Amino acid sequence: MLYKLDAASVAKKVAGRELSSEEYIHQVLERIEKVEPKVNAFITVNKKAVEQARALDREIRDGKPAGPLAGVAVAVKDNISTKGIRTTCASRMLDDYVPPYDATVVRRLQDAGAIIVGKVNLDEFAMGSTTEFSRHGPTRNPWDISRVPGGSSGGSAASVAALECAVSLGSDTGGSVRCPASFCSVVGLKPTYGLVSRFGLVSYANSLEQVGPAGRTVADVATVLGVIAGFDEHDNTTAAGRPSYSAYKKRPLRVGLVKEFIEGADEQVVKIIRGAVDTLAKEGCACEETSLPSVKYALASYYTIAMAEASSNLSRYDNMRYGFESSPEGYEWNSYFSHARGNFGEEVKRRIITGSYVLSSGYYGKYYLKAQQARSIIRKELKSLFKKYDVLAGPTMPILPFKIGEKIDDPLKMYLVDVDTVVANLAGVPAISVPAGFAGGLPVGLQLMADEFCEQTLFDAAGMFEQAAGVRGSPDL
Ligand code: GLN
Repeated sequence: MLYKLDAASVAKKVAGRELSSEEYIHQVLERIEKVEPKVNAFITVNKKAVEQARALDREIRDGKPAGPLAGVAVAVKDNISTKGIRTTCASRMLDDYVPPYDATVVRRLQDAGAIIVGKVNLDEFAMGSTTEFSRHGPTRNPWDISRVPGGSSGGSAASVAALECAVSLGSDTGGSVRCPASFCSVVGLKPTYGLVSRFGLVSYANSLEQVGPAGRTVADVATVLGVIAGFDEHDNTTAAGRPSYSAYKKRPLRVGLVKEFIEGADEQVVKIIRGAVDTLAKEGCACEETSLPSVKYALASYYTIAMAEASSNLSRYDNMRYGFESSPEGYEWNSYFSHARGNFGEEVKRRIITGSYVLSSGYYGKYYLKAQQARSIIRKELKSLFKKYDVLAGPTMPILPFKIGEKIDDPLKMYLVDVDTVVANLAGVPAISVPAGFAGGLPVGLQLMADEFCEQTLFDAAGMFEQAAGVRGSPDL
């Protein structure tokens, strides 16, 4: 059962020629075929994966140096461009869009020896928290297939949990890597804004989002980050340098448990998170409760800014430059655009309309500008806490994974579940979700945040916790 191996083991064995990537990828594809009817994590499976693995085996036999992800099966969220493999954003609008280029992160994965096994499901254009808003149907939580896997990178987390790949890439605008990582009991990271190139990531809200990895171990997530992070001449928001990371170092970190993240969260979740902080204390960390009062502005500020940016980004889907082939009746402006833009799903339309409203003259100051002011307050408050603490802790999600269909008709209820994750995006700081335990068989994730570019601190804290608490295991599928 080679598909069970983590990325570190695969890369080591493939590099040492103890394992053929071809054989491993073959087994991964069989696994995908077996569990997909239950999980529905994939939109497209890469038909050339076995052939690419065979080519890699040959190169290694011929003496080419093996990369840090040699032969490893990786799944990529379907809003990240892959040359020659369709990239749909789970939208009817891009049903048959095949990008002519690779995203920088994809190219870097391939240069490190990774084999892309397919493109995975998401909420349309990454707008959602459950992966239910997908043209390809909902992805299901591998731990309980009647429940949501979280979102929007539900396919990225579910495929890792269901052993359909070793690691994956998602995107995180307001929690989209960490939310599904928490709901599916895998590790997921939202890097510092500007650490990872967004070239080739289909934009939802540029000022908030980053591409981030998911994996079954902290070490695998650190390895993938090391591969994809660093300056990219195609993305002028990337910071200089190409950093590298190690799995973890045990050290006595200063940990603040954020009171506002605990208040209002499900009791079972709170119990597990308090237990997780106790574990870090036993490992030698100095833990205490702290407060981030501006959390109360976070959701309103996030959704205002995200929708404003979305309305602008999505204006390019006009059925001329991009878009679904259809034949609008006549060429009268209004009927043409109503027809063309009708290819978006309900949630995306709701956001375009709300986003246009908050940007419109007369309302801009009242909503968009206010949201930006709140964002500065949150960032300032957070920055001052990082003078006192190395990491801030709390639950990733305030509730347990819920039933498919439970919140789909109530947008506000849906938005509320993001209360703990959006803070890191507003402030631009990194945050990780690491499996913390189970309540009634359902996963709970511990979220840790650190100051900008302190990903190594997160890996140290999360790695220490992972080692001590040992929340492992895979669902029965
Ligand atoms: N759930 C949040 C939203 O719908 C976050 C999505 C994301 O991070 N892409 O905006």
